[in-house]
Amino acid sequence: MAARILDGKSLAADLRAEIAAGVADLQAATGRVPGLAVVLVGDDPASRSYVAGKGKACAAAGIYSRQLDLPATATRAEILATVRALNADDAIDGILVQLPLPDSSIEREIIEAIDPAKDVDGFHPTNVGRMVLGLPAFVPCTPNGVLEILRRAGVPLAGASVVVVGRSQIVGRPLSILLSQKGVDATVTLCHTRTKDVARFTREADVVVVAAGRPRTLTADMVKPGAVVIDVGVNRVPDASKAAGYRLAGDVDFAEVAEKAAAITPVPGGVGPLTIAMLLKNTLEAARRRRAAGA
Ligand code: NAP
Repeated sequence: MAARILDGKSLAADLRAEIAAGVADLQAATGRVPGLAVVLVGDDPASRSYVAGKGKACAAAGIYSRQLDLPATATRAEILATVRALNADDAIDGILVQLPLPDSSIEREIIEAIDPAKDVDGFHPTNVGRMVLGLPAFVPCTPNGVLEILRRAGVPLAGASVVVVGRSQIVGRPLSILLSQKGVDATVTLCHTRTKDVARFTREADVVVVAAGRPRTLTADMVKPGAVVIDVGVNRVPDASKAAGYRLAGDVDFAEVAEKAAAITPVPGGVGPLTIAMLLKNTLEAARRRRAAGA
């Protein structure tokens, strides 16, 4: 039986239409639209393309966006000064520093310099802590996008056994926390490279989410028939038949697993579009909160 394909593009289009309506309402009520600033340091082609996608998505939703390009040689002090200027800029409700930075050792300090009220990526310790406590917070966009796909696809999570493969700070770990929160109520197992026999866990799971950054991390023999499979991975696989010399592939062996699962996300066109939609949602929410606080 072939799995239902969970089309992230169409799910994200619905969400983006809802966000555009929210932006229009906010503008009607306050005379202002939400503003997002994206800081790009250096010239990594993948980062540049992600940032361009975010700018286009903002424009389509009626959100003002500003891109700040800094050279790869920008110093820690220069990046911090850029972030602080954006913290003080009234036209800006959300700030995103595109990661990775050329110097990854300063990432933590840069993220911590962002005003938590403008931290629409949800990486600031204040927002991470509030999320863990179940308090209102900006939640990281990719885990939130995974939850949104599961919700909109009607996948039952309460009492379900969910395995998350990958424990990064931006995807796997926050997702494991969100899934296990009261109100979502999944029973979550978090696997990583030190897990003994990942397949032993994934084979028992009702839902498997893979965010490992390696093609074929999940193969058909690792999946229970009828499971729901969410593939977060985005990998460039060399392919001479493509003009770019590569094709995009997820972490899941899509062709094989789609024969066994009940539902599966493709790559591209699965989690990625929801991630961007969640950034817009967080930016709208930041603007609403700041307007309510008198900004
Ligand atoms: P990351 O920081 O490299 O973390 C990968 C995690 O996977 C680590 O926790 C690692 O374990 C674990 N892992 C790797 N291979 C494994 C294996 N064979 N079995 C079990 N665990 C394994 O990656 P990330 O930033 O979370 O990103 C993961 C993937 O998602 C990447 O392909 C990335 O491009 C993609 N991504 C997509 C979106 C989107 O919007 N679609 C957004 C963000 C990321 P250890 O901790 O033990 O090393």
